[in-house]
Amino acid sequence: MAVSESGNRLYICPDTLVKEYNEGKTLRELGDEYGVTPPAIRYHIVKTRLPHRRKWGNNSKIGITDNGNSLWKGNEVGLTALHEWVGKRKPKPEVCEECGANKPFDLASIENRYTRNPNDWEWLCRSCHMNKDGRIKNLKRGVV
Ligand SMILES: [Zn+2]
Repeated sequence: MAVSESGNRLYICPDTLVKEYNEGKTLRELGDEYGVTPPAIRYHIVKTRLPHRRKWGNNSKIGITDNGNSLWKGNEVGLTALHEWVGKRKPKPEVCEECGANKPFDLASIENRYTRNPNDWEWLCRSCHMNKDGRIKNLKRGVV
């Protein structure tokens, strides 16, 4: 289908293609450049069997799993940003929300939900936070 101006079949150099792809060009941009469709570009890159910048159609690493585990384990930046976001909407109280006695130390996500809902968060003193963390870990250990 792809025919160059001289009438010969368009030759795509796989090395150049992969290099350009790894430099950040999208399949569409490369397709426009070579005058072929994005799937054709993908085919040529796959054919080289070189390491890919990303897996095709694999979005499993993007976003949060149902139980929030991926956010907890794999996205420290996201977690910090979330803490800041909640902290702005849920000011630190005078005392721990759990025991009402000690000074609050940590903004904790209730049941590790990590939602953008201030009601799902509470300010805990260090000992209450540790108690809760321990409880959640024990809870998870019990789940097979
Ligand atoms: Zn407490």
